[in-house]
Amino acid sequence: MPRPIQARIDASALRHNFARVREYVGAKAKIWAVVKADAYGHGLLCAARALGALADGFALLDIQEGVALREAGVRQPILLLEGFFEASDLPLCARYALTPAIHSIEQIEMIEKARLASPLPVYLKLNTGMNRLGFTRESIAPVRVRLLESASLGAITLMTHFADADNARGIYEQSERFRALRALFPESFAVSTANSAAILRYPETTEGWVRPGIVLYGASPFEDRNAADFDLKPVMTLTSRILEVQELVCGDRVGYGGVFTAGAPARVGVVACGYADGYPRHAPNGTPILVAGRRTTTVGRVSMDMLTCDLTGIPEAGVGSPVTLWGEGLPADEVAASAGTVAYELFCALARRVPVVES
Ligand SMILES: *Cc1c(COP(=O)(O)O)cnc(C)c1O
Repeated sequence: MPRPIQARIDASALRHNFARVREYVGAKAKIWAVVKADAYGHGLLCAARALGALADGFALLDIQEGVALREAGVRQPILLLEGFFEASDLPLCARYALTPAIHSIEQIEMIEKARLASPLPVYLKLNTGMNRLGFTRESIAPVRVRLLESASLGAITLMTHFADADNARGIYEQSERFRALRALFPESFAVSTANSAAILRYPETTEGWVRPGIVLYGASPFEDRNAADFDLKPVMTLTSRILEVQELVCGDRVGYGGVFTAGAPARVGVVACGYADGYPRHAPNGTPILVAGRRTTTVGRVSMDMLTCDLTGIPEAGVGSPVTLWGEGLPADEVAASAGTVAYELFCALARRVPVVES
Protein backbone atom coordinates (compact mmCIF):
# COMPACT_ATOMS: atom_id res chain seq x y z
CA MET A 1 0.00 0.00 0.00
CA PRO A 2 1.32 3.49 -0.84
CA ARG A 3 1.82 6.01 1.95
CA PRO A 4 -1.58 7.47 2.74
CA ILE A 5 -0.62 11.05 1.91
CA GLN A 6 -2.14 12.70 -1.14
CA ALA A 7 -2.96 16.09 -2.61
CA ARG A 8 -6.42 16.35 -4.12
CA ILE A 9 -6.86 19.03 -6.76
CA ASP A 10 -10.43 20.24 -7.10
CA ALA A 11 -10.89 21.37 -10.71
CA SER A 12 -14.35 22.81 -10.06
CA ALA A 13 -12.97 24.99 -7.23
CA LEU A 14 -10.34 26.32 -9.65
CA ARG A 15 -13.07 27.19 -12.14
CA HIS A 16 -15.13 28.77 -9.37
CA ASN A 17 -12.20 30.99 -8.36
CA PHE A 18 -11.61 31.93 -11.97
CA ALA A 19 -15.27 32.94 -12.22
CA ARG A 20 -14.79 35.10 -9.10
CA VAL A 21 -11.87 36.85 -10.82
CA ARG A 22 -14.06 37.38 -13.87
CA GLU A 23 -16.69 39.00 -11.64
CA TYR A 24 -14.07 41.36 -10.23
CA VAL A 25 -12.52 42.38 -13.53
CA GLY A 26 -15.58 42.44 -15.77
CA ALA A 27 -16.17 41.01 -19.21
CA LYS A 28 -13.83 43.38 -21.00
CA ALA A 29 -10.62 42.53 -19.19
CA LYS A 30 -8.44 39.69 -20.45
CA ILE A 31 -7.24 37.20 -17.89
CA TRP A 32 -3.83 35.56 -17.84
CA ALA A 33 -4.16 32.53 -15.59
CA VAL A 34 -0.79 32.55 -13.83
CA VAL A 35 0.41 28.94 -13.82
CA LYS A 36 4.10 29.43 -13.04
CA ALA A 37 5.85 27.06 -10.63
CA ASP A 38 3.83 24.11 -11.89
CA ALA A 39 0.63 26.08 -11.30
CA TYR A 40 1.70 26.98 -7.75
CA GLY A 41 2.28 23.28 -7.08
CA HIS A 42 -1.14 22.22 -8.38
CA GLY A 43 0.17 20.68 -11.60
CA LEU A 44 0.55 22.73 -14.78
CA LEU A 45 -1.42 20.47 -17.10
CA CYS A 46 -4.01 19.76 -14.44
CA ALA A 47 -4.65 23.49 -14.00
CA ALA A 48 -4.66 24.15 -17.74
CA ARG A 49 -7.13 21.32 -18.31
CA ALA A 50 -9.38 22.52 -15.51
CA LEU A 51 -9.51 26.07 -16.86
CA GLY A 52 -9.60 25.10 -20.52
CA ALA A 53 -11.03 27.85 -22.70
CA LEU A 54 -12.04 30.03 -19.71
CA ALA A 55 -8.55 31.56 -19.51
CA ASP A 56 -7.66 34.15 -22.13
CA GLY A 57 -4.04 33.06 -21.78
CA PHE A 58 -1.57 31.28 -19.52
CA ALA A 59 1.39 33.00 -17.87
CA LEU A 60 4.42 31.08 -16.62
CA LEU A 61 8.21 31.16 -16.49
CA ASP A 62 9.94 28.25 -18.14
CA ILE A 63 10.02 27.94 -21.87
CA GLN A 64 9.74 24.20 -21.40
CA GLU A 65 6.49 24.69 -19.47
CA GLY A 66 5.21 26.82 -22.33
CA VAL A 67 6.15 24.12 -24.83
CA ALA A 68 4.42 21.51 -22.65
CA LEU A 69 1.21 23.54 -22.73
CA ARG A 70 1.36 23.84 -26.52
CA GLU A 71 2.00 20.12 -26.85
CA ALA A 72 -1.01 19.49 -24.62
CA GLY A 73 -3.09 21.43 -27.16
CA VAL A 74 -3.33 24.86 -25.52
CA ARG A 75 -4.14 27.47 -28.19
CA GLN A 76 -4.42 30.63 -26.10
CA PRO A 77 -1.55 33.11 -25.82
CA ILE A 78 1.25 32.05 -23.46
CA LEU A 79 3.28 34.67 -21.60
CA LEU A 80 6.81 34.12 -20.28
CA LEU A 81 6.78 36.33 -17.19
CA GLU A 82 10.55 36.39 -16.81
CA GLY A 83 11.23 36.60 -20.50
CA PHE A 84 13.89 34.61 -22.29
CA PHE A 85 17.41 34.00 -21.12
CA GLU A 86 19.55 33.55 -24.22
CA ALA A 87 19.34 34.01 -27.97
CA SER A 88 18.80 30.29 -28.54
CA ASP A 89 15.45 30.56 -26.72
CA LEU A 90 14.03 32.81 -29.44
CA PRO A 91 13.37 30.24 -32.17
CA LEU A 92 11.38 28.30 -29.55
CA CYS A 93 9.39 31.40 -28.63
CA ALA A 94 8.56 31.87 -32.31
CA ARG A 95 7.81 28.24 -33.04
CA TYR A 96 5.55 27.75 -30.02
CA ALA A 97 4.06 31.27 -30.05
CA LEU A 98 5.35 32.17 -26.58
CA THR A 99 5.25 35.88 -25.75
CA PRO A 100 8.29 36.90 -23.71
CA ALA A 101 8.46 39.75 -21.23
CA ILE A 102 11.56 41.82 -21.91
CA HIS A 103 13.44 44.02 -19.51
CA SER A 104 16.81 44.85 -21.10
CA ILE A 105 18.44 46.34 -24.16
CA GLU A 106 20.38 43.12 -24.60
CA GLN A 107 17.14 41.21 -25.07
CA ILE A 108 15.95 43.67 -27.70
CA GLU A 109 19.25 43.26 -29.55
CA MET A 110 18.95 39.48 -29.41
CA ILE A 111 15.46 39.66 -30.92
CA GLU A 112 16.71 41.91 -33.71
CA LYS A 113 19.62 39.59 -34.46
CA ALA A 114 17.48 36.46 -34.41
CA ARG A 115 15.79 37.37 -37.71
CA LEU A 116 12.64 35.45 -36.88
CA ALA A 117 10.19 34.81 -39.69
CA SER A 118 7.60 37.13 -38.17
CA PRO A 119 7.68 39.93 -35.60
CA LEU A 120 7.68 38.71 -32.02
CA PRO A 121 5.03 40.16 -29.70
CA VAL A 122 6.54 41.18 -26.37
CA TYR A 123 5.56 42.41 -22.94
CA LEU A 124 7.70 45.39 -22.04
CA LYS A 125 8.49 45.30 -18.33
CA LEU A 126 8.39 48.70 -16.72
CA ASN A 127 10.02 49.13 -13.35
CA THR A 128 7.77 51.40 -11.33
CA GLY A 129 9.22 50.68 -7.90
CA MET A 130 9.61 46.94 -7.42
CA ASN A 131 13.23 47.36 -8.55
CA ARG A 132 13.71 43.83 -9.76
CA LEU A 133 13.34 43.88 -13.54
CA GLY A 134 12.18 46.41 -16.07
CA PHE A 135 12.83 49.75 -17.74
CA THR A 136 12.59 53.01 -15.84
CA ARG A 137 12.02 56.50 -17.24
CA GLU A 138 15.79 56.84 -17.53
CA SER A 139 16.61 53.49 -19.05
CA ILE A 140 13.76 53.53 -21.55
CA ALA A 141 14.87 56.82 -23.12
CA PRO A 142 17.71 55.45 -25.27
CA VAL A 143 15.62 52.54 -26.61
CA ARG A 144 12.13 53.97 -26.91
CA VAL A 145 12.27 54.99 -30.55
CA ARG A 146 14.09 51.82 -31.48
CA LEU A 147 11.36 49.78 -29.81
CA LEU A 148 8.66 51.66 -31.64
CA GLU A 149 10.33 51.31 -35.01
CA SER A 150 11.77 47.82 -34.77
CA ALA A 151 10.53 45.49 -37.48
CA SER A 152 11.51 42.53 -35.29
CA LEU A 153 8.98 43.34 -32.58
CA GLY A 154 5.29 42.64 -32.87
CA ALA A 155 2.63 44.05 -30.57
CA ILE A 156 4.04 45.63 -27.43
CA THR A 157 2.13 45.40 -24.16
CA LEU A 158 3.21 47.62 -21.29
CA MET A 159 3.52 45.70 -18.08
CA THR A 160 4.36 46.47 -14.49
CA HIS A 161 4.14 44.59 -11.21
CA PHE A 162 3.02 45.97 -7.84
CA ALA A 163 5.12 45.50 -4.73
CA ASP A 164 2.48 46.59 -2.24
CA ALA A 165 -0.98 45.84 -3.62
CA ASP A 166 -1.47 43.49 -0.66
CA ASN A 167 -0.51 45.90 2.10
CA ALA A 168 -1.26 49.33 3.52
CA ARG A 169 1.32 51.09 1.37
CA GLY A 170 -0.80 50.42 -1.69
CA ILE A 171 -0.16 51.13 -5.35
CA TYR A 172 -0.51 54.88 -5.65
CA GLU A 173 3.15 55.72 -6.26
CA GLN A 174 3.70 52.88 -8.69
CA SER A 175 0.50 53.71 -10.56
CA GLU A 176 1.67 57.29 -10.99
CA ARG A 177 5.02 56.15 -12.38
CA PHE A 178 3.25 53.71 -14.68
CA ARG A 179 1.03 56.48 -15.98
CA ALA A 180 4.08 58.62 -16.73
CA LEU A 181 5.85 55.78 -18.54
CA ARG A 182 2.75 54.89 -20.45
CA ALA A 183 2.52 58.43 -21.79
CA LEU A 184 5.77 57.78 -23.69
CA PHE A 185 4.01 55.20 -25.89
CA PRO A 186 1.06 55.26 -28.26
CA GLU A 187 -2.30 55.10 -26.50
CA SER A 188 -3.21 51.99 -28.45
CA PHE A 189 -0.63 49.89 -26.59
CA ALA A 190 -2.25 47.31 -24.32
CA VAL A 191 -1.40 47.29 -20.61
CA SER A 192 -1.11 44.66 -17.89
CA THR A 193 -0.65 45.54 -14.23
CA ALA A 194 -2.92 43.72 -11.79
CA ASN A 195 -1.91 40.69 -9.71
CA SER A 196 -4.37 38.97 -7.36
CA ALA A 197 -4.22 41.61 -4.65
CA ALA A 198 -4.75 44.47 -7.09
CA ILE A 199 -7.68 42.67 -8.72
CA LEU A 200 -9.44 42.37 -5.36
CA ARG A 201 -8.53 45.78 -3.98
CA TYR A 202 -7.97 48.20 -6.87
CA PRO A 203 -10.56 47.88 -9.63
CA GLU A 204 -8.86 50.72 -11.52
CA THR A 205 -5.94 48.39 -12.29
CA THR A 206 -7.99 45.84 -14.17
CA GLU A 207 -7.70 47.51 -17.55
CA GLY A 208 -6.29 45.30 -20.29
CA TRP A 209 -4.74 42.04 -19.19
CA VAL A 210 -4.84 41.04 -15.52
CA ARG A 211 -2.53 38.42 -13.98
CA PRO A 212 -4.19 36.53 -11.12
CA GLY A 213 -2.22 33.73 -9.50
CA ILE A 214 -2.89 32.92 -5.85
CA VAL A 215 -6.61 33.72 -5.93
CA LEU A 216 -7.15 31.10 -8.61
CA TYR A 217 -5.81 28.54 -6.15
CA GLY A 218 -8.18 29.73 -3.45
CA ALA A 219 -5.85 31.50 -1.04
CA SER A 220 -5.82 35.13 0.03
CA PRO A 221 -3.12 37.54 -1.11
CA PHE A 222 -3.71 39.57 2.07
CA GLU A 223 -2.42 38.88 5.55
CA ASP A 224 -5.53 40.32 7.17
CA ARG A 225 -8.28 38.87 4.98
CA ASN A 226 -9.42 35.27 4.52
CA ALA A 227 -9.97 33.64 1.17
CA ALA A 228 -13.55 32.95 2.27
CA ASP A 229 -14.15 36.73 2.59
CA PHE A 230 -13.81 36.82 -1.19
CA ASP A 231 -15.75 33.60 -1.72
CA LEU A 232 -12.64 31.76 -2.92
CA LYS A 233 -12.51 27.99 -2.55
CA PRO A 234 -9.45 25.89 -1.75
CA VAL A 235 -8.21 23.96 -4.77
CA MET A 236 -5.50 21.84 -3.14
CA THR A 237 -6.38 19.67 -0.16
CA LEU A 238 -3.44 17.84 1.39
CA THR A 239 -4.55 14.81 3.38
CA SER A 240 -2.96 11.87 5.15
CA ARG A 241 -3.71 9.49 8.01
CA ILE A 242 -2.75 8.77 11.60
CA LEU A 243 -0.13 5.99 11.65
CA GLU A 244 0.23 5.55 15.38
CA VAL A 245 -1.07 6.90 18.67
CA GLN A 246 1.15 7.62 21.70
CA GLU A 247 -0.27 7.83 25.22
CA LEU A 248 2.02 10.26 27.02
CA VAL A 249 2.36 10.82 30.73
CA CYS A 250 3.30 14.14 32.23
CA GLY A 251 6.90 15.01 31.31
CA ASP A 252 7.11 12.80 28.18
CA ARG A 253 8.64 14.50 25.17
CA VAL A 254 7.76 14.13 21.48
CA GLY A 255 10.09 14.06 18.48
CA TYR A 256 13.46 15.68 17.76
CA GLY A 257 14.72 18.06 20.37
CA GLY A 258 11.77 17.52 22.69
CA VAL A 259 10.20 20.71 21.41
CA PHE A 260 6.97 19.55 23.03
CA THR A 261 6.81 18.17 26.56
CA ALA A 262 3.49 16.90 27.88
CA GLY A 263 2.38 18.96 30.88
CA ALA A 264 -0.40 16.45 31.61
CA PRO A 265 -1.39 13.02 30.25
CA ALA A 266 -1.86 13.42 26.50
CA ARG A 267 -2.74 11.42 23.39
CA VAL A 268 -0.54 12.22 20.44
CA GLY A 269 -1.17 11.14 16.85
CA VAL A 270 1.67 10.45 14.43
CA VAL A 271 0.79 11.64 10.90
CA ALA A 272 2.32 10.37 7.66
CA CYS A 273 3.46 13.79 6.45
CA GLY A 274 6.74 15.59 6.97
CA TYR A 275 8.92 18.28 5.52
CA ALA A 276 10.00 16.02 2.67
CA ASP A 277 6.36 16.15 1.57
CA GLY A 278 6.44 19.93 1.62
CA TYR A 279 4.98 20.55 5.07
CA PRO A 280 6.93 23.47 6.61
CA ARG A 281 9.50 22.27 9.13
CA HIS A 282 9.33 25.59 10.92
CA ALA A 283 5.61 25.12 11.76
CA PRO A 284 5.66 25.48 15.56
CA ASN A 285 3.65 23.70 18.25
CA GLY A 286 0.06 24.88 17.87
CA THR A 287 -0.18 24.91 14.08
CA PRO A 288 -3.77 24.02 13.13
CA ILE A 289 -4.53 20.59 11.68
CA LEU A 290 -7.76 18.59 11.18
CA VAL A 291 -8.09 15.02 12.45
CA ALA A 292 -11.28 13.10 11.75
CA GLY A 293 -12.81 16.41 10.71
CA ARG A 294 -12.00 18.07 14.05
CA ARG A 295 -9.60 20.89 14.55
CA THR A 296 -6.55 20.36 16.71
CA THR A 297 -2.90 21.42 16.66
CA THR A 298 0.52 20.05 15.89
CA VAL A 299 2.86 19.28 18.77
CA GLY A 300 6.62 18.69 18.52
CA ARG A 301 8.99 19.33 15.68
CA VAL A 302 8.02 18.37 12.15
CA SER A 303 10.38 15.63 10.92
CA MET A 304 11.18 14.51 7.39
CA ASP A 305 8.41 11.95 7.00
CA MET A 306 6.15 12.45 10.01
CA LEU A 307 4.63 15.05 12.22
CA THR A 308 2.73 14.77 15.47
CA CYS A 309 -0.51 16.28 16.70
CA ASP A 310 -2.60 16.47 19.84
CA LEU A 311 -5.50 14.01 19.97
CA THR A 312 -6.28 14.53 23.66
CA GLY A 313 -9.61 16.22 22.89
CA ILE A 314 -10.54 13.84 20.07
CA PRO A 315 -11.06 10.45 21.73
CA GLU A 316 -12.69 8.99 18.61
CA ALA A 317 -9.49 9.54 16.58
CA GLY A 318 -7.07 6.66 16.30
CA VAL A 319 -4.82 4.77 13.90
CA GLY A 320 -6.15 5.28 10.38
CA SER A 321 -8.09 8.46 11.13
CA PRO A 322 -8.06 10.91 8.21
CA VAL A 323 -5.98 14.05 8.58
CA THR A 324 -6.17 17.29 6.63
CA LEU A 325 -2.98 19.32 6.59
CA TRP A 326 -4.59 22.15 4.60
CA GLY A 327 -7.33 22.73 2.06
CA GLU A 328 -11.02 21.90 2.41
CA GLY A 329 -11.98 22.61 6.03
CA LEU A 330 -8.64 24.18 6.96
CA PRO A 331 -7.46 27.20 4.94
CA ALA A 332 -3.82 26.99 3.86
CA ASP A 333 -3.59 30.66 4.84
CA GLU A 334 -4.05 29.72 8.52
CA VAL A 335 -1.41 27.00 8.43
CA ALA A 336 0.94 29.36 6.60
CA ALA A 337 0.38 32.18 9.09
CA SER A 338 1.20 29.85 11.97
CA ALA A 339 4.40 28.78 10.20
CA GLY A 340 5.38 32.39 9.48
CA THR A 341 4.93 32.09 5.74
CA VAL A 342 2.27 32.44 3.03
CA ALA A 343 0.08 29.91 1.28
CA TYR A 344 2.04 30.54 -1.93
CA GLU A 345 5.07 28.89 -0.35
CA LEU A 346 3.13 25.94 1.06
CA PHE A 347 1.60 25.16 -2.33
CA CYS A 348 4.82 25.56 -4.29
CA ALA A 349 6.71 23.38 -1.82
CA LEU A 350 4.44 20.37 -2.33
CA ALA A 351 6.95 17.61 -2.99
CA ARG A 352 7.08 15.46 -6.06
CA ARG A 353 6.70 12.33 -3.93
CA VAL A 354 3.15 13.31 -2.91
CA PRO A 355 0.64 11.67 -5.25
CA VAL A 356 -1.70 14.19 -6.86
CA VAL A 357 -5.29 13.18 -7.52
CA GLU A 358 -7.56 15.31 -9.69
CA SER A 359 -11.21 15.51 -8.81
C1 LIG B 1 3.52 35.58 -9.96
C2 LIG B 1 3.13 36.79 -10.70
C3 LIG B 1 1.80 37.21 -10.72
C4 LIG B 1 0.71 36.55 -9.90
O1 LIG B 1 0.81 36.98 -8.55
P1 LIG B 1 -0.32 36.60 -7.48
O2 LIG B 1 0.04 37.39 -6.29
O3 LIG B 1 -0.19 35.13 -7.25
O4 LIG B 1 -1.61 36.96 -8.09
C5 LIG B 1 1.49 38.29 -11.51
N1 LIG B 1 2.43 38.94 -12.23
C6 LIG B 1 3.73 38.57 -12.21
C7 LIG B 1 4.72 39.32 -13.02
C8 LIG B 1 4.13 37.49 -11.44
O5 LIG B 1 5.41 37.13 -11.43
